[in-house]
Amino acid sequence: MRLIFIAPPGAGKGTQSALITENYHLPQLSTGNLLRAEIKAGTPLGKSVADYINVGEFVPDEIMLQFLEDQITKDIYAKEGFILDGFPRTLYQAISLDRLFLKYNFKLDAVLILYVQKSELIKRLAARRTCLNCGASFHLEYKPPRVFNICDVCGSTLTQRKDDSEESIKTRIRNYNNLTMPIIEHYDSMNLIHRIDGVGTLDQVYARIDKVLKYLDKSGLSQ
Ligand code: AMP
Repeated sequence: MRLIFIAPPGAGKGTQSALITENYHLPQLSTGNLLRAEIKAGTPLGKSVADYINVGEFVPDEIMLQFLEDQITKDIYAKEGFILDGFPRTLYQAISLDRLFLKYNFKLDAVLILYVQKSELIKRLAARRTCLNCGASFHLEYKPPRVFNICDVCGSTLTQRKDDSEESIKTRIRNYNNLTMPIIEHYDSMNLIHRIDGVGTLDQVYARIDKVLKYLDKSGLSQ
């Protein structure tokens, strides 16, 4: 199965796609997590994208497209499919992704879109704490770590992402509304969209996503 997961920053996209990966054994391909790992490792790519990411701006399309082609052609994703979390983020990326799917003979099964209103997003992002080591994400109120400020998954200290500052949050939400939302029309015209209410507890939102995935499974769309 090949899925795209689109959601505004702070809607819980990373956490929910990790749950899908766990329950459906579908590899998660998160461009944000992968780019943060490049920054942490100090690679040339990491150095070229750090300034954009830290202020909440999009990494230029040309860099992202090359990066994505390198990723989706890796054995694991080519064989097992993926849930694409964080890509595409612009209409240009979406159209280029269609071409990549054609080039490699991949079929896109569905596009999931999570809806959460802006006031809720700001509240969620400000209280988010992230593990820079393994990418796990927590929330001080909705999903606190078992031990204060320590990652449940790998035991590293949690931090606030630089792009979870008030200024960067505003930039990211603005970019989502102006540059990412137009993608929805693109996938609507291909009849691939499933709209999901992203307000509620983690479990409630996941149950809605699960219903869609079960429907896709049953309709044989994932074969
Ligand atoms: P995320 O973890 O999905 O919120 O992504 C974190 C940041 O990585 C974004 O705010 C962008 O700066 C950058 N990024 C990730 N994916 C893309 C993409 N498809 N296009 C442009 N920038 C991206």
